[in-house]
Amino acid sequence: MALIECPDCTHQVSTLAVACPNCGRPFSPPGEPVEFSRTATAIGQAVSGLIVLALCLAFPPLFFVVVIVVVGSLALRLSR
Ligand SMILES: [Zn+2]
Repeated sequence: MALIECPDCTHQVSTLAVACPNCGRPFSPPGEPVEFSRTATAIGQAVSGLIVLALCLAFPPLFFVVVIVVVGSLALRLSR
């Protein structure tokens, strides 16, 4: 386990740490972080999708509200 110096507070931090324990600066160790955040985002979207689906099954009228919101957010994404 190697130690690196935090760029913000010069605290010695493990290269395995995701954030500086002294000042809280987030680290992105080479190789994994992008993949990890992508995976975390995908999992988060899947979980929220399942929650929305369950809510739609419980309250059918909500389905139309969700469709409107999803179409609206997709339109926003495409317009950027
Ligand atoms: Zn720090």
